[in-house]
Amino acid sequence: MNLSQLKVGQRAVIQKVKGTGQFRKRILEMGFVQGKEIVSVQNAPLYDPIHYKILGYDVSLRRRDAQQVEIKVLGDESPQVEKVEQQASLTHHGMPSYKPFSPKHKEDKELITIKIALVGNPNCGKTSLFNQVSGANEHVGNYSGVTVEAKTGYILYGAYRLEIIDLPGAYSLSPYSPEELYIREYLTSDKRPDIILNVLDACNLERNLYLSLQLKEMGLPVIAALNMFDELERKKDILDYPKLSALLGIPMIPTICRTGIGLSALFDELISLYEGIKAKDQEWLNEESGKARPLRLNYGLQLEAAIEELSRPIQQHYKDYTAMQIRHLAIKVLEADRVYLDKLEEDRAVAVRYVREELQKELREELGQADREELIADARYGFISGALRETYKRKKQSQASLSDRIDYIVTHKFLGFPIFLCLMYLMFYTTFEFGAIPMDWIDSGVGALGEWIATLLPEGPIKDLIVDGIIAGVGGVIIFLPNILILYLFISLFEDSGYMARAAFIMDKLMHKMGLHGKSFIPLVMGFGCNVPAIMATRSIESRKSRMITMLVLPFMSCSARLPVYILIAGALFPSSSSLVLFGLYLFGVAVAIISARLMRDSLFSGEDVPFVMELPPYRVPTLRSVLRQMWTRAKQYLQKMGTVILFASIVIWFLGYFPRQEEARKDFDERIAAIEQYNELSQEEKQEQINLLNSQFSQMQQEKSYIGRLGKFTEPALRPLGFDWKMSISLLSGLAAKEVVVSTLGVIYTGDADDSDEAQERLSQRIAQEKRADGSPSFTPLVAISFLIFVLIYFPCVATVIAIAKEAGSWKWGAFTVIFSCGLAWLLSFAVYQIGLLL
Ligand code: GDP
Ligand code: MG
Repeated sequence: MNLSQLKVGQRAVIQKVKGTGQFRKRILEMGFVQGKEIVSVQNAPLYDPIHYKILGYDVSLRRRDAQQVEIKVLGDESPQVEKVEQQASLTHHGMPSYKPFSPKHKEDKELITIKIALVGNPNCGKTSLFNQVSGANEHVGNYSGVTVEAKTGYILYGAYRLEIIDLPGAYSLSPYSPEELYIREYLTSDKRPDIILNVLDACNLERNLYLSLQLKEMGLPVIAALNMFDELERKKDILDYPKLSALLGIPMIPTICRTGIGLSALFDELISLYEGIKAKDQEWLNEESGKARPLRLNYGLQLEAAIEELSRPIQQHYKDYTAMQIRHLAIKVLEADRVYLDKLEEDRAVAVRYVREELQKELREELGQADREELIADARYGFISGALRETYKRKKQSQASLSDRIDYIVTHKFLGFPIFLCLMYLMFYTTFEFGAIPMDWIDSGVGALGEWIATLLPEGPIKDLIVDGIIAGVGGVIIFLPNILILYLFISLFEDSGYMARAAFIMDKLMHKMGLHGKSFIPLVMGFGCNVPAIMATRSIESRKSRMITMLVLPFMSCSARLPVYILIAGALFPSSSSLVLFGLYLFGVAVAIISARLMRDSLFSGEDVPFVMELPPYRVPTLRSVLRQMWTRAKQYLQKMGTVILFASIVIWFLGYFPRQEEARKDFDERIAAIEQYNELSQEEKQEQINLLNSQFSQMQQEKSYIGRLGKFTEPALRPLGFDWKMSISLLSGLAAKEVVVSTLGVIYTGDADDSDEAQERLSQRIAQEKRADGSPSFTPLVAISFLIFVLIYFPCVATVIAIAKEAGSWKWGAFTVIFSCGLAWLLSFAVYQIGLLL
């Protein structure tokens, strides 16, 4: 029987993991080894994936992947946990010291620097620790894959300067994912840290210690933080950590990184270890009794014999290796770790390779089905369960935990989706409804700033550049900051509470159908705010193919910069049903994203993909600090886009629209204005009206004759089949910088006024509805408007997004692809809509 057939609520024991390659290795390392008990907790509302509990943690697995796991169903007899309880009689070990931790940051020259790397499973609290000590604001989330880059910070502690590096999470040190490979290379490179601080989730030790064993086997200096100790104590579980520490040869200190408790004790111990290693102190390094003694696992008869045999040629080839290094290399070679095999190749260790091949044949005959990978994972997990059986006492949990009960509801067959949709609705409603209030303030603030600056500066191009170019351009973007802050507040809350992983769980089947991944969902939603941080957020997707597709379709998620264009055009042409048009556009964007994702999956990114093995972390109450911090980090990316790309683009667009100056015509207009002022028949108001009219006629003429106007006329033939005239072409061209610029350009062309106050918008809206072409037909018919809106939605996202895609995909090719794909698609869709519309 296989795991996918296990009924909800049933328990089983794992017999064997079939399949090959990455999938197999990954799930073996996540604890799917022979003899482990597994429970099927719940199906996702769409029946796939499935939520399981194994080794006391929660994980989601796709049905198809679960078919690879062979199991034996268990009856209702007492679960294994109780056996542990009977065997162990432990004394209580709680937190050692509640001494508060207060980092200092003053630099002093005489200090000794210790380089410390934080290594641990995803979501065990590494970044929380990093933030506590370095005072940094790195992104913490109750969701795996949040940290994607190594970050360095430091503190001064006594006579030491502790330099701390926060690395991405890893389940093991096999070269399974790029991160894991990166970490391993980093830990063994010349820049390697002095001490490795292995952060452990104390409630999840069985899986967390797998990585610790690998670190120890590499002979690295490891110390462990038993993090989340508050959760362990709350569950009333008891851990004899001094004993566990002695069994593994890793000094261990309980911590609560969220609040900083235990960190002083941790660093005291860390410094002693560092000094112990430097002084080659017996207390620490003694093979038998040292606190940080080397660890030697027993891999069982057959493998041990093979390791032995391999060690000989290794020793001959690598004469300066220690016994530990030789053994480690032998194990890695047996595991068929490709990095080490390449190393053998490079070092021309022919004899080693020869012995390896011989052994491989022998082992295959001896072991039959079972293979080395499995035996190695088995031995490691065997050692861990043995150690925990002696040291860990789980309080018998009669009723389901709070997390389980929440999960029962939010991933329920019938309730799951309604709850999910309500939360999404709440998020968007708040974003757009409440976001509109501060939006008005910012709007008037920017307007006032422009006017104020205008009074300070003398007339001339510089003033025009600052007021109409920079302030109007950047101001038009900054207006979306409230929307974005609210959207990201919600996303941070979902992430920190643990709901995000459930959303990915619920959505996986649908996403998978589109060629995406459950985890693609979050970045896609973020895209409605601003595409740039959303593209960065795709980093949490492990599968490269899914990640690429997610990034490439992200621009079709209508970001908030496109909203003012929709509001303007829909308001002008469809005054009674503008919100319907708006909603339709968002949906249309989503549909385009889905279809293109599907197409890309079948063409550009076809083939086997990484399995969806995702941890479902327990629900946690988010801390205000971390939520706000995270919201701010993302908003900062948005502000950066404004300070750089948009600022630059605003200047360029302004320049193209401002020059060449029509000096002759200006003189002519000035004379006419002067004439009107002389004319006594008119009242003061009538005069002003006439003057305004003349001024706006001049602006329009200026725009038409400017460089951008010429460009607009030049591109008009290409856009005419879509129903656009040269004025619309100009606005679309200017929108290449950022889509909100389309509105201000339309403003200048149609009313000679880039002002975006309410009355000005009202005027512009009327003008657009009344605008006529040379032949007297209206410029904007409802059909043209729809075609225009679709074009704005789909075409060239914006400079910042293209740059982000190119950077994250690692090649400019993908940036270019996005440009061509989106513009081509926009043209085709608008063309189809317009031409079909004409026929009807
Ligand atoms: P990382 O993935 O290892 O960097 O983990 P994070 O630092 O992002 O933390 C993951 C989650 O665990 C966040 O929701 C933290 O608030 C939470 N967390 C971190 N340390 C502790 C702790 O000591 N106790 C509790 N209860 N939660 C913690
Ligand atoms: Mg992190």
